[in-house]
Amino acid sequence: AAKGSGRGRFRFYSSDLHQAAEDRRVLEEDLRDALARGQMELNYQPIVNAKTNMVTGVEALIRWNHPERGAISPSIFVPIAEEANLIWPIGEWVLRRACEEAARWPSKLRVAVNVSPIQFANEELPKIVANALATTGLAPDRLELEITESVFLGDSNETARMFKALKGLGVRLALDDFGTGYSSLGYLQSAPFDKIKIDQSFVRGATVQGSRNGAIIAAIVALAEALEMETTAEGIESLDQLDLIRKLNVSHVQGFVYSQPVPQAELVERAEAGSWSIKPAGPAKQ
Ligand code: C2E
Ligand code: MG
Ligand code: MG
Ligand code: MG
Repeated sequence: AAKGSGRGRFRFYSSDLHQAAEDRRVLEEDLRDALARGQMELNYQPIVNAKTNMVTGVEALIRWNHPERGAISPSIFVPIAEEANLIWPIGEWVLRRACEEAARWPSKLRVAVNVSPIQFANEELPKIVANALATTGLAPDRLELEITESVFLGDSNETARMFKALKGLGVRLALDDFGTGYSSLGYLQSAPFDKIKIDQSFVRGATVQGSRNGAIIAAIVALAEALEMETTAEGIESLDQLDLIRKLNVSHVQGFVYSQPVPQAELVERAEAGSWSIKPAGPAKQ
């Protein structure tokens, strides 16, 4: 009986796997045409100066509006795009669209664009970035490229050359999801980042002052300050989290407490010419 049920379980598991593989294959097929069919759009989430509540920029976040399945999260389809060799056209589209839209905004907000490690490993990237800037007329210092620690797993000479080429264009560089990937800090010594983005996972457990996550955030802030880099805390949802983040001297905040990512039309409606500040709102935890 034990043998039988074991086999049964195995068969169930195997058909589950088969279903998952099939799902993924279909999604990959759909992804191939998604750009051409106009199913992709960018949403923008404000990044706010923690002290003044002034919006200093926005992060562009890709959205896939699938005709049958509705919105599909980038955390699902970006990894598929990376494996299926589709991240290059998608990434190029994101860069161009973000620059195009940002160039028309009423205030000179900075726009941050996520760059996949696969794009970063392609020597054409600086040319693509230069092209997006030139054709849209966006000032280079209004574009910030968000890169994750995983780029440091590649060839270090090529990585250094890529940083130099990108910096040479006058764009800003941010280190995304800091503290979740690569374990060595040695790369910070030479990488020309303007900003470190503290991953949401540290913020989650940091509601109580004096917590271990609070200590980690304080250490990241000290490190960033010594290296003359700004800091952004990601994923701040509550007023209590915001309060703590301010006490820890994190310079910028991004999270639902200020705003969800919004479509470009809504951003333009809300953004004010010149300077723009927003009030935080969110659940206060007891
Ligand atoms: P990320 O770059 O770390 O982006 C931050 C994510 O946190 C976004 O998820 C954002 O919507 C979410 N977020 C912001 N504030 C809060 C908050 O207060 N609470 C919570 N729970 N979440 C918050 P999203 O838009 O689903 O994107 C997920 C990831 O997908 C991004 O993480 C990024 O790695 C990737 N991604 C998004 N757009 C692009 C893109 O255009 N190109 C590439 N290569 N990757 C992208
Ligand atoms: Mg990002
Ligand atoms: Mg992040
Ligand atoms: Mg992330």
